[in-house]
Amino acid sequence: MDALLHRIADRRDAIVALTQALIRIPTLNPPGRHYRDVCEALGDRMRGEGWRVELIRAEGTPGDGDAHPRWNMVARLDGPRPGPCVHFNGHHDVVAVGEGWTHDPFAGTVADGRVYGRGACDMKGGIAASIVAAEAFAAACPDFAGSIEVSATADEESGGYGGVAYLAERGRFAHVDHVVIPEPLNPDRICLGHRGVWWAEVETKGRIAHGSMPFLGDCAVRHMGAVLEEMEASLFPLLAGKRTAMPVVPEGARSSTLNLNAIHGGEPVQEDGYTGLPSACVPDRCVLTIDRRFLIEEDIAQVKREVTDVMERVRARRPDFRYEIRDLFEVMPTMTPPDAPIVDVVRGAVRDVLGREAEFVVSPGTYDQKHIDRIGRLKNCIAYGPGILDLAHQPDEWVGIDDMVSSAQVMGLALHRLLAR
Ligand SMILES: [Zn+2]
Repeated sequence: MDALLHRIADRRDAIVALTQALIRIPTLNPPGRHYRDVCEALGDRMRGEGWRVELIRAEGTPGDGDAHPRWNMVARLDGPRPGPCVHFNGHHDVVAVGEGWTHDPFAGTVADGRVYGRGACDMKGGIAASIVAAEAFAAACPDFAGSIEVSATADEESGGYGGVAYLAERGRFAHVDHVVIPEPLNPDRICLGHRGVWWAEVETKGRIAHGSMPFLGDCAVRHMGAVLEEMEASLFPLLAGKRTAMPVVPEGARSSTLNLNAIHGGEPVQEDGYTGLPSACVPDRCVLTIDRRFLIEEDIAQVKREVTDVMERVRARRPDFRYEIRDLFEVMPTMTPPDAPIVDVVRGAVRDVLGREAEFVVSPGTYDQKHIDRIGRLKNCIAYGPGILDLAHQPDEWVGIDDMVSSAQVMGLALHRLLAR
């Protein structure tokens, strides 16, 4: 065990170099740039270390096309004896850079014990840590039983349909026993799952008329105003009162939440570069986009019914009130049982490497675990990896080098517990 931990500590520079190399490939999503490049870079490296590598294009998935094909990489190393399969999955896409950087977002600058760049913590540092951990373990225990897989997948930041969902639909997790997703959760936290999501559009309907005689029309924006008031009066208090037993962090996300994502009524603010005045019209439609995050104790039918109830209460008071609710997107909550084998093994490894107990957490937002659970039908999955979650998607995103080394040690030790005989 000590030999393995030393071996990983000795590969500190390799972890940093791989993180930098990945950051220097700007895999921006949207639209999905350089996916093939990042998969080839990883594939070449792992082939050189004796892994079997496949590049898989998720043809026909959202955003896939000649301009921005959705490429994934899966690498596999078999031990000389049969045994379980441990799979590390990381998404290779990163979000837009945004304003406010003091470092070049695609240089992979090293300063103060950190690597800076877009995707440093979310999650190229995690991919690098898991690959170096797997390589070090395979070098230390070449006669291991079973197999190790590493996948670098597309599109997590836009739902994962061209990435993990695509692989899961093709049975790519059927033979897998344990999954670790090295998302940035801090090296002493194990993430068991995430809350559910329901996005919908709520539309109020009116009747167009001349703006100087609004009484001849029916204003969809005023109807929406009544909807918002009813939400403030009844729905938000109802949601704040629902508490989960899931260990969601931060604490505020332990309740049900609703974000009013966007609202629009009447004529577009500006269209096709038009900068003149609007015309005088009563708006005949108003659309509200809602982002509802729900708890494992809640049922999605009930979640939707609560919004319908709001609309029905408004309708009872307003003549001619008409509305429509359209589903946009939904994800069920998922949580690995705290006594699942992978949780147990990683927890023990955290104790041995860091000398403290791991904290169990659940993520407020979703990540690719949903596809491994729902499509891949594999519950034995956690997120565990280096980096601080709050830094994800921020300017001057960074990952700590010490954190990458210790989480690589935890992952290496977990492999040892699962595969060494
Ligand atoms: Zn991520």
